Amino acid sequence: MLASAPLKDPAEVLRDVFGHAAFRGQQEDVVRHVTSGGDAVVLFPTGAGKSACYQIPALCRSGVGIVVSPLIALMRDQVEALRQAGVKAAAFNSAMSQEEFSSVRRDLRNGDLELLYVTPERLALPGFRQLLSETEISLFAIDEAHCVSQWGHDFRPEYRELAILAELFPSVPRIALTATADPLTRADIIEKLALEDARVFTTSFDRPNISYTIVERDSPRRQLLAFLANHKGNSGIVYCLSRAKVEDTADWLNGQGIKALPYHAGMNADLRAANQDAFLKDEGLCLVATVAFGMGIDKPDVRYVAHLDLPSSVEAYYQETGRAGRDGMPSEAWMSYGMADVVQRRRMIDEGGAPEEIKRIERGKLNALLGICETTTCRRQAILAHFGESHEGNCGNCDTCRSPVATWDGTDAAVKALAAIYRTGQRFGAGHIVDVLLGKETEKVTRFGHQNQKVFGAGKDHDSRTWQSVLRQLTAAGFIVIDHEAHGALMLSEEARPVFRGERKVTFRQDRPRKAAEVRRSLNATVFDLPSEAAGLFDALRNERLRLAKLQGVPPYVVFHDTTLRAMALTRPGSFDDLRAIPGIGHSKLERYGEAFLSVIASHAA
Ligand code: ADP
Ligand code: ZN
Repeated sequence: MLASAPLKDPAEVLRDVFGHAAFRGQQEDVVRHVTSGGDAVVLFPTGAGKSACYQIPALCRSGVGIVVSPLIALMRDQVEALRQAGVKAAAFNSAMSQEEFSSVRRDLRNGDLELLYVTPERLALPGFRQLLSETEISLFAIDEAHCVSQWGHDFRPEYRELAILAELFPSVPRIALTATADPLTRADIIEKLALEDARVFTTSFDRPNISYTIVERDSPRRQLLAFLANHKGNSGIVYCLSRAKVEDTADWLNGQGIKALPYHAGMNADLRAANQDAFLKDEGLCLVATVAFGMGIDKPDVRYVAHLDLPSSVEAYYQETGRAGRDGMPSEAWMSYGMADVVQRRRMIDEGGAPEEIKRIERGKLNALLGICETTTCRRQAILAHFGESHEGNCGNCDTCRSPVATWDGTDAAVKALAAIYRTGQRFGAGHIVDVLLGKETEKVTRFGHQNQKVFGAGKDHDSRTWQSVLRQLTAAGFIVIDHEAHGALMLSEEARPVFRGERKVTFRQDRPRKAAEVRRSLNATVFDLPSEAAGLFDALRNERLRLAKLQGVPPYVVFHDTTLRAMALTRPGSFDDLRAIPGIGHSKLERYGEAFLSVIASHAA
């Protein structure tokens, strides 16, 4: 096959089809490289604009671009969005009827398709490979390429089969894309997909539009409610560890006037699918979910991700929070965290069936996340450092940067806390240890004669909340270990020795006073600080978008992203020419929707 010259100019396609004035970051390099026939591995974070990296080359080269995607739901949205932009796109999957199947096959044969989305299973079918061998192919795009790696979270064995594409179609460029920051997974992608000779494109994994906040848990529901008060009308996800907690939290939120839907693997499949669909198609819903939800959710306007329980690692935390703000608009990652999380997560590892070697890795991963929870410096810097990226700190968009955390010399307090644990026989949980330190004559204290211990009442210089915080921080740092068999009794670890003897200095973070936790920049982000006139128009545009989306049975973001509506609300375009200058409006969408939105703007008094 002859390497064909590009049929179209990438910058023109970006403008005319997708409505964007300029490429972002390294997009242009990738697009030019692949358009001219090169293989590529693209490692960009969520929201960086990876889709354009293969969609535009596919439109510029002759033939059809084959996109491998792990989930049917994911394909559906992407195909719909492309069709709205005037691209001849289709998906081939097992959920299709025989007629749909034949029609796609016919289009493929006639060269009437520009992009075809398929599952990896489909590509393994001999019949389909035969069909492809008779078709002109512009490129293969392997989306969510981390699925090839068993180090990643979403291992899909069928992805391994994709290596054969290099042999079967040696002259067709291949591009693998992922938002995975994990070095092991990255290396695996290159090896398992036979992309050793591909050019690798990487960029910073920072997500500057996401604000990070981790609060010490005291009353989680009240704290969550205070957080959600800043997100009226926004879509967001609340993650919980267990199915029961998902159900309870969703019920409770509805009782509080917040429209929430549950999602977890134990639900009836139809109901679960309906809830996911509602989350995508309605605006302003809160989805309460276990981590079963999220993979392949491409909704660009998720404005917050809240964790009521601690994730298992920094990788998991970053992936889950990364589902917020794909469209680049301000979004929030919020988590409440406490001693119970440390106990629970450690127990899950200790009592899980993994071999000791894996357990050690899991403990290390959990400890890295605990370090981020307890850090007194910039959270973004700590998170990125975990992925081997240096950030200068003081990001201004995390809780520790917005209101710096005080620290205190906890050397004495640590000695007292460890002594209280040790002298009472390392058999009691945090509640009792705090009672002993405070000198409270509880029934348990007298039953065990702890009022006679030297440490009894030795901690009256601090209140109970401070002692809880001390125990949590000592546990997070590994000085205290938890005996799960003895109902969560606290015990001293080997590393605690020098601390216990007062030979090692310990610094604690000063937990925030309860009130202060709520003094936050208001992020009623539906309108993102729009002036009030524009905010009214933005709402009207949003209603029009929802109406048009419902008519077609598609999610609103398939019509326009929030960024596009925001630009309309601010600049009040009065003509088709004005509209053309708005990001996200290409030729096709201009024709489809231009009239409708211009009339909303005209009827909305300035
Ligand atoms: P990713 O797949 O990397 O998570 P997407 O491809 O979904 O990211 O793009 C994220 C957002 O950025 C989308 O709203 C998309 O329209 C927008 N986008 C992509 N490229 C550009 C560009 N060159 N200019 C403006 N917006 C862009
Ligand atoms: Zn910061």
